[in-house]
Amino acid sequence: MLFVVESSADGKPIIILSMPKRILRVLKWLGTTPAVGMCAACERQFTLPMAAFKNIVEARSKMQGLFDEHECESKEGHEPATGPG
Ligand SMILES: [Zn+2]
Repeated sequence: MLFVVESSADGKPIIILSMPKRILRVLKWLGTTPAVGMCAACERQFTLPMAAFKNIVEARSKMQGLFDEHECESKEGHEPATGPG
């Protein structure tokens, strides 16, 4: 799993999972545990159950699991046609 960590305007870290198409963006943190994530493609949000926060590793893998399992409906229905030239 490849994490790319950026800093948001708030100064809080944002983890962006390196994916070919879909990008998981963490919206909320509980300490170093991702609490709420969002798919950047379809804007679906993923919230972890409180039980998941006992273990950071488990919480992260659970967040990853939710992200992997969701049916991504990207708002970009089809690729834009390339114009001439
Ligand atoms: Zn999605």
